[in-house]
Amino acid sequence: MKTKETVIYKDKASITAYTNELKQDNKIVGLVPTMGALHKGHMSLIETSINTCDETIVTIFVNPLQFGPNEDLDKYPREFEEDYKKCYQSGVAAIFYPSEEEMYPRGRQNNFIVSPPEIYTKKLCGEFRPGHFDGVATVVTKLFNIIPAQKAFFGQKDAQQLFIIRQMIKDLDIPIEIIICPTEREADGLACSSRNKNLDPDSRQIAPKLYESLQFVFDNYLIGNTDFTELSTMAKKEILEKFSKIQLEYFAAYDYNKLGAVKTLTPNTLIAIAAKIGGVRLIDNILIK
Ligand code: AMP
Repeated sequence: MKTKETVIYKDKASITAYTNELKQDNKIVGLVPTMGALHKGHMSLIETSINTCDETIVTIFVNPLQFGPNEDLDKYPREFEEDYKKCYQSGVAAIFYPSEEEMYPRGRQNNFIVSPPEIYTKKLCGEFRPGHFDGVATVVTKLFNIIPAQKAFFGQKDAQQLFIIRQMIKDLDIPIEIIICPTEREADGLACSSRNKNLDPDSRQIAPKLYESLQFVFDNYLIGNTDFTELSTMAKKEILEKFSKIQLEYFAAYDYNKLGAVKTLTPNTLIAIAAKIGGVRLIDNILIK
């Protein structure tokens, strides 16, 4: 718990100067990029940063570049005052809370884009959200440049995003260490997500079925069945297809070192799922260690 004020920066130059001052004082700065509506998942990233770095900077920016034209940009929850309180109570040193104009002064369409290779984007979420990972890679690159922290904290829940960011910093020689944090869940197993706030009560009740399906595959893997095709077919039949509200986008197994599809479950396989439930898009995954 901290007593020091959490400073809000809305302009790039000031947060860059602030970060550089901290570094000149030999402080290790942790960066936690978010789109706000902070939940337990975000707070675990923030706590990990606070526990392992000298100062923590959280960014809150609903990045329009990563939303497609028919996606939920307008409906995405925004609750800065509550977010501020949570950051303050956790001991966050500063929040970067820029406007869209501050981030994209020449407009969304006219900004240079960081575009990850298609081998990483034409699958899983990228297949259903064309351009999404260009938007993610662009904003994350900008945030790394604006806030030159030594460490940045990301959640395993967004596994494809994490994979792409880790490849990106290698390929583009961006000097930052990525720290991966495990997925935080609600008591019934549903992965925490800002979008959970948009679920109607019925959809909220059904939503844990995604994790249940992942867990079904994982539990069977643990007792020796490694055939993902068989297990996913069973999970679909026994769990997912019982709920007409679940519009499955993918239920897939990928080699997490290369992001290539696999049929046999082994250590380092990412079992991932995405579905719309009552119009709200949710994702989740289990990584076999
Ligand atoms: P977002 O605000 O959804 O862009 O997420 C910001 C960061 O929080 C990303 O690194 C996410 O992977 C991470 N995150 C989101 N949900 C969770 C969760 N349930 N558990 C852990 N990290 C999460």
